[in-house]
Amino acid sequence: MQTITVMLDSVPGERSYPIHIGEDILCQPELFLERLPQKRVAIISNTVVAPLYMERLRSALGRHNVVSLPIILPDGEEHKNLQTLNLIYDALLAHRCERGTSIIALGGGVVGDLTGFAAATYLRGVPFFQVPTTLLAQVDSSVGGKTGINHPLGKNMIGAFYQPRAVIVDTVTLDTLPDRELRAGIAEIIKYGLIRDPAFLEWLEKNIAGLVARDAEIMVEAIRRSCVNKAEVVEADERESGGRALLNLGHTFGHAIENGMGYGVWLHGEAVAAGTILAAELSQRMHLINSIDVERIRNLYAQAGLPCVAPNLGTAEYVRLMGLDKKVEGGKIRFVLLERMGKAVVRSDVPSNMLAATLAECTG
Ligand code: NAD
Ligand code: MG
Repeated sequence: MQTITVMLDSVPGERSYPIHIGEDILCQPELFLERLPQKRVAIISNTVVAPLYMERLRSALGRHNVVSLPIILPDGEEHKNLQTLNLIYDALLAHRCERGTSIIALGGGVVGDLTGFAAATYLRGVPFFQVPTTLLAQVDSSVGGKTGINHPLGKNMIGAFYQPRAVIVDTVTLDTLPDRELRAGIAEIIKYGLIRDPAFLEWLEKNIAGLVARDAEIMVEAIRRSCVNKAEVVEADERESGGRALLNLGHTFGHAIENGMGYGVWLHGEAVAAGTILAAELSQRMHLINSIDVERIRNLYAQAGLPCVAPNLGTAEYVRLMGLDKKVEGGKIRFVLLERMGKAVVRSDVPSNMLAATLAECTG
C-alpha cells in the first residue's frame, strides 16, 4: 500500500489527511478506524456500485464492531441534484445519525460530490471519508475537498469546500469499471503531466499501453503520481484563488463540448481530451508550444483511446457555451494554455481571431 498525505495547514493539523492506495484495501478497516469518532457510519453508494462492494466494506467494518447504515442512491449524473441530496438527509435524520457519525462515499465522482456536500451540511458538518471506485474519482474528484450538486441552470453550481478525513483507493474496484469509464479517467491523469509534471508526462508516454491494458503496477503508479500532483496543487491553493485553476486545462473547451452535445453523450474525460487538444492548438497559435508538441499530445490521447477531434459546434456556439463557464471573470474567458510541455499558464488575453481560427481549423 502507498500513502500520500494532503497537508492543508502550515502546521500539520487536524485537516491534513491521508490518501491510501492499494489492492484490496477496502477490507482493511484500520484505515478508517483511527479517524472515526464513533463506531457508527453511514455508507452512501448507488444502485450500480452497492451490489458490487457494499457488503465487502460493511462486513470489514462489522468485524471491528462498526455499525453501518447503507444509503443507496439512483445512479447517474442526472441524479446529482437537490432531490437526491434530500434522500441522504432523510435517511440520516430518520436513523438519528449524530455529529460523530461518519459518512463514507462509496462510488464514483457523482456519489463522492453528493456525499461530501451532505457531510459538509448535515448538522453543520460531520466526518467524511472517500472510497472512490472510478479511475476519475481515484485520481481527481476524491482528493481536494470540492463537493456539490448540479442546478438546472448549471453543473456544480451549488457546493462547498469540505475535506475528507481520509481517501481509500482500492484498485481492485477498477476490475468492474467499463473500459470507456477507465479511459475517461486516463484523460485526467494525462492532464497532470501536461500542466506541471514533465517527468510524469514522459513516463505516461512510455506506459500508456500498459495503463490502458490495466497492468496492476502501472495503474497504482499512475494513480499515485496523479494524487501527489493533485495534493500539491490543493495544498498550495485550496480554494482556487490561483494555481488550482490550472487543473482546468482542456475544461473550458471540454465543458462546451459536453454541454453542446447534450450532457451524457460525451463523457467528461472524453470532452477534456478533445478540449485539451484544442487548448494545445490554441497554445501553438499563441506561439507558446510548437507543432511537434501538439502532435505528442494528440498521440498520447489517441493511444489512450480517447477522442482527439472536438465536434464542430460552430465558433459562435463555442464562444457562447464557454461564456457560461464558472471560471469566466468580468466577462473574459480565462484559458488554461500550455507554455511548454509540463507547464500550464492561465491567459485571459487570447485574441478572438486566434480563438476563431483554432475552432475553425481544428474541430470536425
Ligand atoms: P460517475 O460517478 O457517474 O461514475 C461513472 C459510472 O460508473 C456510473 O454509472 C457509476 O455507477 C459506475 N461505477 C462507479 N464505480 C464503478 C465500478 N467500480 N465498477 C463498475 N461501475 C462503476 O462518474 P465519475 O466519472 O466517477 O465522476 C464524474 C463526476 O465527478 C461529475 O459529476 C463531476 O462533476 C465530478 N467531479 C468532481 C470533481 C471534484 O473535484 N469534486 C473533480 C472531477 C469531477
Ligand atoms: Mg475534470
